[in-house]
Amino acid sequence: MVTKVSLQKCESYELNEVAAAVKKLLEPLGGMSAFVKHGYKVLVKPNMLSCKEPERAATTHPSVIEAVVRECFEAGASEVWVGDSPPAIFGRTEDFWNKTGFAKATEAAGGKMLCFEKAEKANVDLNVLGKDTSASVIKTVFDADLVISLSKMKTHNLTRITGAVKNHFGFIPGFAKALFHKKFTKVHEFSAFVTELARTLPVKLHIMDGIEAMDLQGPASGRVKKNNILIASENPVAVDFGFCKVVKLNPKSVPIMKYCKSIGWGPSSFDDIEFVGTKVEDCIVNGYIVPPAPPVYLIPDFVLELIRKMIWTGPNLKPNKCVKCGRCKNICPAKAIEVRDMGASFDREKCISCFCCMEVCPVEAIEMKASPLMSIILKLRNVKRVLSRNKNE
Ligand code: SF4
Ligand code: SF4
Repeated sequence: MVTKVSLQKCESYELNEVAAAVKKLLEPLGGMSAFVKHGYKVLVKPNMLSCKEPERAATTHPSVIEAVVRECFEAGASEVWVGDSPPAIFGRTEDFWNKTGFAKATEAAGGKMLCFEKAEKANVDLNVLGKDTSASVIKTVFDADLVISLSKMKTHNLTRITGAVKNHFGFIPGFAKALFHKKFTKVHEFSAFVTELARTLPVKLHIMDGIEAMDLQGPASGRVKKNNILIASENPVAVDFGFCKVVKLNPKSVPIMKYCKSIGWGPSSFDDIEFVGTKVEDCIVNGYIVPPAPPVYLIPDFVLELIRKMIWTGPNLKPNKCVKCGRCKNICPAKAIEVRDMGASFDREKCISCFCCMEVCPVEAIEMKASPLMSIILKLRNVKRVLSRNKNE
């Protein structure tokens, strides 16, 4: 079956420009009225990873939120709620809403903010790689007439990209998210968990904000990269295919997409997609840098045990930046962090490389570090990639 993925160029966050682009983006999918019916109560879930200004590109831009909420009301919605839950709230949720610009944008469009931490919860049962597990998500995701996901185009040190499928992780409120990193420590297990969660939740429209994206060491402290693109589809895997297409990334190298293919959810290749809207060739961006797929996860367990001490990626402190706030210690699901006079320190033996600490650090004092052997492996992989690219050109 062919899935439609709509691409729309948009070169700034000027509200009128974004509003026009969102309208055009949705036209090939039938417009917002194909999703929102008269009187609908709609839940919109952007990415509110950190308490940062919109210009940092760690969160969905408020102009995109405002444009989408307005579209919902124009199509006949009676109520529109906007909310998300970051990995951990330090201080007041309202501080996140204000700093990210979410509250102002939502209220300007006539919507209301929803605090996921305080909302009623519902349990979902999942089977992840043969293991039964359950997750507590906000109940509104089931009570709303329509749920719209507004993901942000970003990289991720663990899963390479964080896009439309991974945006569902935020329906689990607060600290509980970090515990799933502990339960599913390997990237393929975690990818399976996030995908099974996404498959279970009734999100019917997926829009990605890639106007100003983030690359390199995402999802919280990477580089802002202007990609000038909005992507939409009814299927989140298809949106992530759109993401890969635009930044020239092989979907097979993305663990979540690999798992989606293995279970037959969403398109399995670009051949299963009909790109509509702005022509694909006009949307391609150069120089978007995605963190490498850690080869450590591709190695069988018994070999891994033998070489675990030699190949790893993990957090590393930039000592001059650490303000000793302790947020990293509080979020760490493996209890691998201590904060002393010199700042945060990481216990390599305990660390499961989930990078939650990096996500919550308010001053970007944590970077990803690779062991010497891993650095060599990654460099060789890069050389191989460049050689094969040159061969194909
Ligand atoms: S590394 Fe960041 S999160 Fe951890 S104590 Fe230092 S400033 Fe706080
Ligand atoms: S130290 Fe950081 S990367 Fe390692 S387990 Fe703790 S939160 Fe995850």
